[in-house]
Amino acid sequence: MAVSEYVDTPLFIDGEWGPAASGKTLNVVNPATGATIGSVAHAGIEDLDRAVKAAQRGFAVWRRVPAFERAALMRKAAGLVRERADSIARLMTLEQGKPLAEAHIEVLSAAGIIEWFADEGLRVYGRIVPARNLTSQQTVIKEPIGPVAAFTPWNFPINQVVRKLSAALATGCSFLVKVPEETPASPAALLQAFVDAGIPKGVIGLVAGNPGEISNHLIAHPAIRKITFTGSTAVGKQLAALAGQHMKRVTMELGGHAPVIIAEDANLELAVKTSGGAKFRNAGQVCISPTRFLVHNSIRREFEQALVRHAESLKVGDGLAEGTTLGPLANVRRVGAIRKVIENARAVGATVATGGEAIGGDGNFFAPTVLTDVPLEADVFNNEPFGPVAAVRGFDSLDEAISEANRLPYGLAGYAFTRSFNHIHQLSQRLEVGMLWINQAATPWPEMPFGGVKDSGYGSEGGPEALEPYLATKSVTVSEA
Ligand code: NAD
Repeated sequence: MAVSEYVDTPLFIDGEWGPAASGKTLNVVNPATGATIGSVAHAGIEDLDRAVKAAQRGFAVWRRVPAFERAALMRKAAGLVRERADSIARLMTLEQGKPLAEAHIEVLSAAGIIEWFADEGLRVYGRIVPARNLTSQQTVIKEPIGPVAAFTPWNFPINQVVRKLSAALATGCSFLVKVPEETPASPAALLQAFVDAGIPKGVIGLVAGNPGEISNHLIAHPAIRKITFTGSTAVGKQLAALAGQHMKRVTMELGGHAPVIIAEDANLELAVKTSGGAKFRNAGQVCISPTRFLVHNSIRREFEQALVRHAESLKVGDGLAEGTTLGPLANVRRVGAIRKVIENARAVGATVATGGEAIGGDGNFFAPTVLTDVPLEADVFNNEPFGPVAAVRGFDSLDEAISEANRLPYGLAGYAFTRSFNHIHQLSQRLEVGMLWINQAATPWPEMPFGGVKDSGYGSEGGPEALEPYLATKSVTVSEA
């Protein structure tokens, strides 16, 4: 597939790209211009049934491919993704809005993720367990669970697919993904790399359409054996409940509201540079984005001023334009949502230290915003803002900061800046999060577990833990006859 310009996305079923049976499509819009740039095929039930049948056949083939050959094919696909990084990144920026440099990093890191999982698939070991008599042997075998249905969001169109896809393929499962209707072309280009690497028919499939209709149909379908979803906590709870009714394995990577604790002994320059950088990456539309800045009162004003300077130094614009560091919000819903968050913060007494307004024009541009003196009851301190908004509050003791960090039902990422061993020990032991980064930005490398606790979901999308949900454990005991 030539991917130098934006392309329409058909469905990918049984090794073929093609239209929906109904011929229906949905428009794809460039968030930087508001212009319709293409379309994605809208699958109906007939298409979904065809896709599931293909995934069943694909599973029967792929599970019989030795792990070494699966790994070799995955490595080949990773190489193609790397070769095509420029054109895939361009597709992503056109449909999602993020600066081209960020899109490029996402594509290259996807290649690294595929390779890591390819290798990890070689280490899916069973075991031999000492038997209670010498005439029998007890073995534990790991087998692929079956066809997987994945549902991924628009904020990282490739990264959100690639972890799930790689874990499924490395373990011998087939994989059917509902890509985000807003950003379908870049994940389609990811799948194309596997097609060009020679993946057998039916092992991977791609659909889009009405998210509720697709998830209801696929989760309930008896042939689908595992569900994996990334998105909001509200939708995740609905899907997990449905999966429960059908006794399906589930991985849920849901919303977060990451605290950033900046202690009195923090390296302030490092804290501003790394947490400010992380805050505005992908316009804050990141589940592990720092969202609640908790700063020791002795350094709070200094931190706020530096964060404001950082925000004001960002260059907002079309992600394809040279020098842009903050692109538009990915869809028009986010502009309304962020406006509301800021109106609410103002109404309850927070100060808008910089930003606070949509920038206007045809795209979904929003000024990078820093809110200070934010009361605890402000919406921004309770619900994931998912946008370019940093909210700052002060604290006097680490205990106070930790209890604020743990107050919300979310528990995905957390960050802290301190040079005190005692603080680090306390934070590591007591913060209710799935991932904690201290004195540094997030580094979600594939070898480290990635996932949350509490309402942020369950299951991991990194480390050896990421393969386990795609495997069934069988214990086999054999005796002499
Ligand atoms: P949303 O809650 O409607 O959708 C979130 C994602 O879930 C989208 O990709 C959507 O297509 C999908 N989805 C929605 N209903 C579904 C269903 N019934 N079955 C399957 N998939 C379904 O909201 P939105 O406006 O797209 O995004 C807003 C919120 O979603 C954000 O505030 C954020 O909390 C959350 N979100 C989280 C992530 C993440 O990385 N965890 C990514 C994107 C969005």
